[in-house]
Amino acid sequence: MSAVIELKGVGKTYPGEQHPALRDVSFSVGQGEFVCLVGASGCGKSTILKIIAGLEEPTTGTLTKPAAVSMAFQSGALYPWLTVFENAAFGLRGKGMRERELAAAVEDKLKLVNILPFHDKYPSDLSGGQRQRVGIARALSVNPAVLLLDEPFSALDPRTTEELHEDLISIWRETKKTILMVSHLIEEAVSLADRVILMRDGSVDSEYPIALSYPRRENEGFHHDVMKIRREFFR
Ligand code: ADP
Ligand code: MG
Repeated sequence: MSAVIELKGVGKTYPGEQHPALRDVSFSVGQGEFVCLVGASGCGKSTILKIIAGLEEPTTGTLTKPAAVSMAFQSGALYPWLTVFENAAFGLRGKGMRERELAAAVEDKLKLVNILPFHDKYPSDLSGGQRQRVGIARALSVNPAVLLLDEPFSALDPRTTEELHEDLISIWRETKKTILMVSHLIEEAVSLADRVILMRDGSVDSEYPIALSYPRRENEGFHHDVMKIRREFFR
């Protein structure tokens, strides 16, 4: 599998900080792969995504990544003054696209995430799960090679989370995007990813390929894989 993202010995110390947020992080993500980073709060998960998204520079090491990368944040991070359609269209505005072409591209993504009927509503009219759907549509609208998701479901109730999990797997299969997601829940990571990377104190601790069929939670190996990672997490 060819690597789309590759970090080699990446370190990051934020300006004015004494302790590095990342130390010697190396891993790669293959074309079309779904990788999930897990680890305790503050271990550097978001910093890795920000570096890949180009929002932060690494202090040391090298990073290989495609030009087209987009990120969706916790609870959608939508603009409250824009409609669902305009939120999803945000990354395409100002690129000189024809209105009809732009509308078709955006509607396609809204349909993919099952939110098209709400296209003219505002974020305040939506539930948390619906807002996150719009956040994902916005990230996909620019047709990125890589989709980065930073704890996208952590503010949602368990039922909504499971619905979105199922839909994310369908979106991944349909679009064949490479996905790198951050979660603080091992169960969530094992429900979704091809590979789980456990982080500890700014470094990669260990990696776990997950070979279960979907839906994962109904698979008898699910608990075994979760426990294996939990034991290491709480070591
Ligand atoms: P996680 O997403 O795993 O919770 P983060 O990547 O957000 O972890 O943070 C890793 C470490 O870097 C933490 O100690 C955090 O306080 C610190 N950190 C994150 N962002 C900044 C920043 N902009 N400036 C200074 N320190 C930061
Ligand atoms: Mg974080």
